[in-house]
Amino acid sequence: METKELRVNGKRLQGALEEMAKIGATPNGGVQRLALSDEDKRARDLFVKWLRQIDLEVRIDEMGNIFGRRKGTNNDLPPVMSGSHIDSQPKGGRFDGILGVLGALEVLRTLHENKVETKRPMTVVVWTNEEGTRFAPAMQCSGVWAKALDRDWIYDRTDINGLRFEDELMRIGYKGDTPAQRSDVHAYYEYHIEQGPVLERENIKIGVPKGIVCLHWYDIYLAGEANQVGPTPMEGRHDALCAAAEMILKVNELPARMGGNLVATVGEIQNEPNSRNIIPDKVHFTVDIRSWDDALGIKAWDLLKQDFEVIAQKRGCPIRIEETWRVAHSPFDTKLVQNILDVSNDLGYSSLGMVSGAGHDASYMNQIAPTAMIFVPSIGGRSHVEVENTKWEDCEAGTNVLLHCMLRSANE
Ligand SMILES: [Zn+2]
Repeated sequence: METKELRVNGKRLQGALEEMAKIGATPNGGVQRLALSDEDKRARDLFVKWLRQIDLEVRIDEMGNIFGRRKGTNNDLPPVMSGSHIDSQPKGGRFDGILGVLGALEVLRTLHENKVETKRPMTVVVWTNEEGTRFAPAMQCSGVWAKALDRDWIYDRTDINGLRFEDELMRIGYKGDTPAQRSDVHAYYEYHIEQGPVLERENIKIGVPKGIVCLHWYDIYLAGEANQVGPTPMEGRHDALCAAAEMILKVNELPARMGGNLVATVGEIQNEPNSRNIIPDKVHFTVDIRSWDDALGIKAWDLLKQDFEVIAQKRGCPIRIEETWRVAHSPFDTKLVQNILDVSNDLGYSSLGMVSGAGHDASYMNQIAPTAMIFVPSIGGRSHVEVENTKWEDCEAGTNVLLHCMLRSANE
């Protein structure tokens, strides 16, 4: 068979996705597979079993990243790599991350059963803790691998129950021996659902992002004065939750104030003691700012910070701000982006250039290797929720694009 005629097996891909979705399945059709949880371990075990079935060389590094390598005819050449993440949001969807992992596996299964040789080796990868929901920040282990984040800092991150990342990694048996250290990669393709409404609205099969927006994460801690709500007059209160409420609205108003392509969100809040008859004295909330324009994101934060300080002062609630994480916007490799457009065209799929508003491991990979992403439509534009869905035929189409992009890059 000419490799040009090669196609992935859509039914087998669907079967793999459905089997994986049973691990951490939630009652409303989603999955909950938090990083380094028991569910994460079970999903990894299944994935590693599948890698071994097609004779891949499996390596697990000290961050729990999993690599499955298929030999080329010249193994001195840097490999073509593809993958994504196995972990999910709490009550997340069945496609985010795992589609890119099982899509890359389906590519290698297809090459294996058709005995296709490539010049370069090919590697499928699972990056540990992409979501950053249990242990912040996100994209931790591609970050360590790319030398953008410090290993020991990540090891010491704790979840809401005070459990350490490294301890949990060891507990599930995925702290490997290989150092998490970048090596040369010829091309990195990450296949993912769009997680937005554009492709469905425009009736397009394949999204081709020119890059990923910048991501800035902040943590805000406010202190107030607790007291019984009944006898305490309104004047003179130091209500940490009211201070937070004013600040949260400032975050929401920020994009309109800044102009340009910027979004700003507060998605998480902890209020203490969280009792209806006590004035709140401790609040923590998060701020997430994203833009294609890094400088605009920083400028927005500088203005916001000033507002926060004024509000904290006015309400008598001392504020502590942690600038938790920043990743610069990431313009992808133009040649790989063009490969995706060309391959989509060859396969007869409509495609559309766009920008990724979601963060991905591809952001860190882009700092060290030529990188690009392939998107397929999200039904209703919904993601990070249990109803997250993508048509099986679209899953298959995106995987065919991945197959032929990887073949192109692996034979040059
Ligand atoms: Zn993802």
